[in-house]
Amino acid sequence: MKILQQRLWLKILVGMALGALLGYALAPAGLAVVAENTAHHIGSWLALPGAVFLGLIGMVILPLVVCSIITGIAGSNDATFVKDLAIRLIPYFLLTSLIAVFIGLGTAHLIKPGLQNNEARAPVEIIAPETMIENPTIPERIQNIIPKNPIKAAVNLDLLQIVIASIIIGLACLAIPHATIEPFIKLCQAGQSISMKVIEWVMAIAPLAVFGMMADMAIKLGPEAFIGLGGYVLSVLLGLLTLLAFYLLIVFFVAGRNPFSFLSSVRAVQLLAFSTSSSAAVMPVTLQTAEERLNIHPDTARFVIPLGATINMDGTAMYQTAAAIFLCQFFGIDLTFTEMMLLAFTLVGASVGAPAMPSAGIVILAAIVAGLGVPPEGIGMILGVDRILDMCRTTVNVSGDLTAATVMERWLHRSNKQQS
Ligand code: ASP
Repeated sequence: MKILQQRLWLKILVGMALGALLGYALAPAGLAVVAENTAHHIGSWLALPGAVFLGLIGMVILPLVVCSIITGIAGSNDATFVKDLAIRLIPYFLLTSLIAVFIGLGTAHLIKPGLQNNEARAPVEIIAPETMIENPTIPERIQNIIPKNPIKAAVNLDLLQIVIASIIIGLACLAIPHATIEPFIKLCQAGQSISMKVIEWVMAIAPLAVFGMMADMAIKLGPEAFIGLGGYVLSVLLGLLTLLAFYLLIVFFVAGRNPFSFLSSVRAVQLLAFSTSSSAAVMPVTLQTAEERLNIHPDTARFVIPLGATINMDGTAMYQTAAAIFLCQFFGIDLTFTEMMLLAFTLVGASVGAPAMPSAGIVILAAIVAGLGVPPEGIGMILGVDRILDMCRTTVNVSGDLTAATVMERWLHRSNKQQS
């Protein structure tokens, strides 16, 4: 049975639209049909189904990532396949992130948002600025991704460490006689099926969850969050749309698929990514979409999607570039060509390291632009519009993972037949 029932995307879309309308009606900065306190009180109740939805998906993320990766690598019992996949996938991820950064540079230089006469909005408190600046050195970053304490990684839900530990365990399974590890692989397959069953149940409340989350967000942010800093928002949105168009070209020319049917297969998960702003939260649904809607072989999907959700964030890379250039233009910081190139490569690394959760992109960006001389108020300035941009870049991040899965499927000549 399929998780993504017929027209789920439409129900989610209707939920989103109704939620935004209700939020606008209740928002103190919108129609304000009720008093401010009442609006926030109603908002916290409206957000409840969304919290339940995300909480239940969150419950299975750990077993799902671990079991998917281990069965993805060791289930096929084919070391050559895994090697072939990895040597194509990692350069593919890096190359698309680099292209995303160059698209960001292009749109920011085309629109020059920071040189326009922007009225900077007062920052909206989404994340506490003091928790934002944290700038580990490169050797520290590398040390931080080694899962030296897998239990701690699991408790903290440090996805990158969990993914790396699972890959190592999967590779070890491949190196051990099949008979020895067979019970373990069966256990992982069972874990994967149980997790997917939970997701199937949870998806039933997706439209209601999205309705409530949108309403709550609209109450908190008000309509201004969607229209402030026009040129900056425009340059980010233009860049994200270009990136999406680039994916569709890849789907057509590289993966040999119809881009329109690709879009129609992935729209439900795109809408969920938009509503949740977290590619990690929707990762189970992305995986399901890859296997059931795009007919990608589980060996490919179970490796590409969890890894992609963790390290492949082209939308974030594009956004961070456009935002960094905007802030430099706004504060009159001239970047030389070399500085610009250095920034481009730093941002590719930053998007790899960014956790797949709401606001992650701006937190990492804060550390990078501080190094360029942008004052902390700069981040405060773009914080107000960040939520809506986060929703859009997460949609693109998830689309990028699904595009990568179709490409790997094609390159590795896997069967395109429907998996039961
Ligand atoms: N919210 C994004 C994601 O989960 C990360 C970001 O903030 O850019 O994909």
